[in-house]
Amino acid sequence: MKKCVLSIEHLQKNYHDKNGEIVAIKDVSFDVYDGEFLSIVGPSGCGKSTLLSILAKIDKKSGGEIKYHSDNIILGYMLQSDFLFPWRTILENCLLGLEINKTLDEKKKQRVIDLLNTYGLGDFINKYPDSLSGGMKQRVALIRTLAIDPDILLLDEAFSALDFQTRSVLADDVYKIIKSEGKTAIMVTHNLSEAITMSDRIIVLTKRPSVVKKIYNIKLTDKSTPINNRKCPEFNDYYDRIWRDLDVHL
Ligand code: ADP
Repeated sequence: MKKCVLSIEHLQKNYHDKNGEIVAIKDVSFDVYDGEFLSIVGPSGCGKSTLLSILAKIDKKSGGEIKYHSDNIILGYMLQSDFLFPWRTILENCLLGLEINKTLDEKKKQRVIDLLNTYGLGDFINKYPDSLSGGMKQRVALIRTLAIDPDILLLDEAFSALDFQTRSVLADDVYKIIKSEGKTAIMVTHNLSEAITMSDRIIVLTKRPSVVKKIYNIKLTDKSTPINNRKCPEFNDYYDRIWRDLDVHL
């Protein structure tokens, strides 16, 4: 039995604007287990990004509990845009989080250099972001996130700014990196294929005000990398079932 690292209990989030109160998240509860890749899907506007920003402690909840089951948990947050600084080299960009945390030392710097080398960016360590493709920049953004050695990675539509091919290859890379580094990941996506091919579990939210509609344990025969996982016999069945759960009307 895997260790539970995070429990979300009856989470609620209300926003206030000039028209009054918007209940974005009504009642969402689920656990997150050590080393798992968990995706959150749901109709547009149901509160997926809000949920992630509350987990990242950027936004405040209106009710319920968020329980991290260890002290001093480190969270890594990766967004759609890579947010690399153009005037810093790739290595300097990757060291930013450690500089901000004031925890940069030679050992940690060497670990970041090792990550860049291991994941195909060794030749770009002293180059600037404008010499990299969109997919490579997102890989750098992931390594910058890993540099602080997070316990949990939060990925918010991290690939959606990229074209289909780059996105698929990057999703493969990110999956391999996260799994080989043994990280727990929570990903928000509107892309069902990505969710099914990358995740151990998928949480499906209803439309706003959201509650958990279903939780899927994704079991794929001959599971390997996300690109290959599309060929697994169960893929289409999961896709159809989750698509129906989303209940999208145009
Ligand atoms: P999703 O990521 O599922 O598309 P969001 O989390 O971005 O949804 O938004 C959930 C709901 O909360 C939306 O209806 C959105 O309009 C509303 N919302 C998000 N941020 C704010 C805000 N700062 N002020 C008011 N309403 C907001």
